[in-house]
Amino acid sequence: MTRPAETRAAVLVDYEKPLEVRSLPVPPPEPKAAIVKVEATTMCGTDVHIWRGEYAAAGLSKLPLVPGHEIVGRIAELGSERTVDALNRPLAEGDLVAWSYAWCGSCYWCTLAKQPTACENARMYGWGPADKAPYITGGFAEYAYIMPPCSIVKVPEGLDPAVAASATCAFRTIIHGYEKIGRIETHETVVVQGSGPVGLYALAFAIQSGARQTIMIGAPEARLDIARRWGADVVLDVQNGDPATRREQVLELTDGRGADLVVECSGANAAFVEGMDLVRRGGRYLIIGASEPRPVEIRPTYFNLRQLTVAGTMSGDVSHYYRALTFLRDHQDRFSFGDLLGSRYSLDQVGEALDGMESMREIKPVIIP
Ligand SMILES: [Zn+2]
Ligand SMILES: [Zn+2]
Repeated sequence: MTRPAETRAAVLVDYEKPLEVRSLPVPPPEPKAAIVKVEATTMCGTDVHIWRGEYAAAGLSKLPLVPGHEIVGRIAELGSERTVDALNRPLAEGDLVAWSYAWCGSCYWCTLAKQPTACENARMYGWGPADKAPYITGGFAEYAYIMPPCSIVKVPEGLDPAVAASATCAFRTIIHGYEKIGRIETHETVVVQGSGPVGLYALAFAIQSGARQTIMIGAPEARLDIARRWGADVVLDVQNGDPATRREQVLELTDGRGADLVVECSGANAAFVEGMDLVRRGGRYLIIGASEPRPVEIRPTYFNLRQLTVAGTMSGDVSHYYRALTFLRDHQDRFSFGDLLGSRYSLDQVGEALDGMESMREIKPVIIP
């Protein structure tokens, strides 16, 4: 595979405007960098938020930008010092790989705290800018640049590249969250709030971890159907019924105690408030999805008097990428992960894909550049 001088990319030039397919330079890789030919990029809800400009004021997204951060690609060219993946396995041209974000490796969070996902110098994919080297850091392009600090992991054989791509945001975040909140015991009831990709992956992980009972709270029906097929014991539709009724149902299913673990994957403040009332005394609440900037009222006594453990995580380090990919490969017969994927779109159709995601017509559109 040879590296072309230029690549086609879907570029966001102005927020909330159609993306423009443009030609961008493909720079030669620095010694520890690599160039990949993108095999598949799945769309994340965050791509829609970026498109709307919701992170522009905070300076997080920088125009022009190539969106897309759930990417797998085949190595087209390796930098002279990039010879192995994160597991020390040799890398060669043509290998299908995923890669972590670029964390600096030298700040307090990267070193002392061992929490690279909180790195103060993080560089993420799909946030721009595309007018400065290395230009092609987003997945809505034929080629992408893996920056030197990123860890690379090979995608296991026998996994659909689009399914693998979906692991690189949604699922690795869930693995990170479960690691932080502690293992699921076989007598426990797990409630998952939100039936989008993150929630459905959270459900699959809880089931595979041996949870005694899983309860999915979400919508719309097509997503709840996937939850049922994957083995959720109880499915509650948020479009039918109110929080008080759902709380009654959860209490009934747990001998009046509430869930041992509630996992918030919904994004809505209302779900957070509801979830607090679904956790049993002494239980755990994992917050993954919350994305509304507006505050909600919290009574501090809720935490100490009810002895709750509350944790929040975002993103994941390379170990979570590896574990997510391995889980998908090992358990794809039990869970039809492909059900999460939507239609396949070319670079010229990225606008349609964004529309499908925004209107919830699609769970996870796939961009095949
Ligand atoms: Zn994402
Ligand atoms: Zn750092």
